[in-house]
Amino acid sequence: MRRAFLGVGDRAADAVVMEGLPDVTCSDPPPLVQISTLYMKTWCNACKREGHIAPRGPRHEGTGSNGQRWALSGDINICGCSPPPVFYAERNMAMIFTEHESTALTALAIATASIGTATGKVCDEQVRITSTLPAPIGYPYCIETSSGALHSGRVDLHGLLPRVFTDNAETYTVHWGEEALDHEGWK
Ligand SMILES: [Zn+2]
Repeated sequence: MRRAFLGVGDRAADAVVMEGLPDVTCSDPPPLVQISTLYMKTWCNACKREGHIAPRGPRHEGTGSNGQRWALSGDINICGCSPPPVFYAERNMAMIFTEHESTALTALAIATASIGTATGKVCDEQVRITSTLPAPIGYPYCIETSSGALHSGRVDLHGLLPRVFTDNAETYTVHWGEEALDHEGWK
């Protein structure tokens, strides 16, 4: 799987990327464009609204000089349109994913998104890996909450992570694979 980096002028239906990093450009193929990161500004001509690039799908680590992760072809535009328009770009600056990485990183993106929506006084969040790709059964994980609680194990047959109970909406960090195994909380 290959996902090209997004740049100024790239489109998602009627939405166009307005913002890029002056210090990172790509001119292969021409013309030269500034490369963009997540949450950079867009303009949607369908709903006539300013919006931004939001993440969808697998993504490797790494950020631009603004500290944000790179925007990639297949990310979505957040504007007034529903469903959100999907960006598409082809250029010779891309992130490459093996099938295994694609599954694991997609699961990670979905798990992080589910965790991010945990709100309310008593949270009972169960992370389910809903990738359409085969669930990475047996894949090691380690969930660390902001209060320091740790939950570790391996993804089960149903692609479920253990139910995590908290008194307040907490911040979670999910470590996967090698990173989980290396974590001091792994058991
Ligand atoms: Zn729109």
